[in-house]
Amino acid sequence: MRGVLARLVEAAWSREVARHYRDAIALESCGREAVEAFQLAKLNRLVDHFRSFPFYAKLLTGAGDKDKPLDCLGDMSRLPTISKDDITANFAAIASSPYARRRESTSGSTGKNFVFYQSRSRQPAQRASLRRGREWAGVDHFNDRTVLIWGLSPQTSKWAGRRQDLIRLLMGTTLLQGYGLDAERCIAHWHSINRIRPQLIEGYPNYLLTMAKEGARAGIVPHRATSLICSGETLFEEAREEIEDFFHAPLHNRYGSREFSSIAHQCRERGAMHIHPERFIMESDSDGELLITDLDNLATPFIRYRVGDAGRVEFADCACGRSLFNIVEMVGRTHDVIRTPSGTPLPGQFWTTLSRAVEGIEEFQLVQRSPTDLELRVKVTDVYEDGSEAYLRKKVQSVAGAEVTLTVVKVDTIEPTPAGKRRFIINEMEGRNAGR
Ligand SMILES: [Zn+2]
Repeated sequence: MRGVLARLVEAAWSREVARHYRDAIALESCGREAVEAFQLAKLNRLVDHFRSFPFYAKLLTGAGDKDKPLDCLGDMSRLPTISKDDITANFAAIASSPYARRRESTSGSTGKNFVFYQSRSRQPAQRASLRRGREWAGVDHFNDRTVLIWGLSPQTSKWAGRRQDLIRLLMGTTLLQGYGLDAERCIAHWHSINRIRPQLIEGYPNYLLTMAKEGARAGIVPHRATSLICSGETLFEEAREEIEDFFHAPLHNRYGSREFSSIAHQCRERGAMHIHPERFIMESDSDGELLITDLDNLATPFIRYRVGDAGRVEFADCACGRSLFNIVEMVGRTHDVIRTPSGTPLPGQFWTTLSRAVEGIEEFQLVQRSPTDLELRVKVTDVYEDGSEAYLRKKVQSVAGAEVTLTVVKVDTIEPTPAGKRRFIINEMEGRNAGR
């Protein structure tokens, strides 16, 4: 019954979702040439569309563009790359276009809140690829009961929150709070999971790992889900083993970001992550930085966009029967985790959400010197008030414990690494994390 309801909700959402979904399936088995032809046609329409944005037309001209459609995907290198800074610098033009429907900001790992717009056309494409990615991992998107263990959502509007609650209810999805996950909360979550008996459990790797560690410590006998999916942080191999051992279920990695939602997903073979062929063209530049083109966002030109992660992209036949472009190596994700004296993990998401709660924080960086000594470096604008320090300290202490001291230091710039990456968390206690 719930599956039928969920399908009705999806159908009512838009016929566009069904169209994207059909494209996605067709492209999985038609070979590289057909995938590239499909992507090229969409790319040429996209570039043409953004030519009417003066700042993008100027970027094109600057890169030597001759105002002609591309003949093949190999010609993409003649298009300019675009960075977060380019988009921020031209934000007013993007925001004033009739395609700018939904304002969003990244909750990413860079320590800088980046604001951009989605067009109406992006949402159905996103829904279709989310469904398809889950299916690659063996999940029945409409019928499987799902438990999500995520942090606080950056979504602030009351109505948007209620709409999300309703969709989750119809989809048989339960959201468990991973924010401030400690032993006590883990056990409570395990009781919920054992009662709900979900087929799918999704969360950040570090939340799933904490659930495994605390579950083992407390002697919990876990309900066996069919499938686990993680995203949002680097998945380390040791963590994968420990999670799979305790949950007794296969863990599938997903690569996504706030700008694009699901970009690539592991299938049941759990090899390289398959890139959604109907939505994204991915390349890597000479330094190995991934460049992403979102073929469905008509509001912000994410064309050869420097996403800030490094990796390698390759077309390959997979044992699952699909022939697709894949991310074969993924390095450089920067969502490190700070642990408090009691062992509570405070992942990147926690600090991003915290920084957003205070007006005027433009960029931040966290340095952990000892379990109880944290320094938050902030680059601020004029609207920042010095009194905010007390609020930030109180928030951190409420999760990390009263013995933790947080010093807030105002800085003019936050220095990137020699490779140009922003260091979001510097953990001076763990050499492994330093410099990531
Ligand atoms: Zn596969």
